[in-house]
Amino acid sequence: MFFPNRCPVCKEIINADDRFCPECTDRLKIYNGSSEINGVDKFCACFEYNENIKPAVFLLKDGICGNSAHAFGSYLAKTIQNNGISQKTDIIIPVPLSVKSMHKRGYNQTELIAKTISAKLDIPVCCAVRKIRETEEQKTLDSYGRMSNLKNAFEVYDSETVKDKNILLIDDVCTTGSTFSEIAIVLKESGAGNIFCASVCKATVKK
Ligand SMILES: [Zn+2]
Repeated sequence: MFFPNRCPVCKEIINADDRFCPECTDRLKIYNGSSEINGVDKFCACFEYNENIKPAVFLLKDGICGNSAHAFGSYLAKTIQNNGISQKTDIIIPVPLSVKSMHKRGYNQTELIAKTISAKLDIPVCCAVRKIRETEEQKTLDSYGRMSNLKNAFEVYDSETVKDKNILLIDDVCTTGSTFSEIAIVLKESGAGNIFCASVCKATVKK
């Protein structure tokens, strides 16, 4: 069986080891900013979220194009290394979906990215955090709404695994950082050490 590798943005056939086609690669905007996130020791991201990368983020959530998680994961692994986070990390935790969203989608797209990063950096993935209730879509809320929407939405159910560990949280898109912040808080309450966060894309908050 032959499944051609496709660019997760424009769906052109690309070489087996390519992540995006050359044209789409040129259009991606590397994230060079810095963000302070409450409770988080260090944050990094690969790309600025814009129209040029959006199709790949949507594909990842639709599960149509397998190359999306691979492309994102390998880029993000590099960014994590360049930021000096990889050698300090004991375990990787993907941002969890609620049980309902997980059933609807059938998989957690963030876990797919985390698994690629795990293979590249040789750091284990542990899904030690779960989302215990449904929340509103973050993009419909302002920054105060985003924080209160997520309050007590996450729970560490494997505190033995996270205790005294330096943890790297992975997400596909980070906007205000309130999801990372909320999870960082519950992890630290469970005795975790440093919390690093990495997202494929960093979106800016619309005024
Ligand atoms: Zn392309």
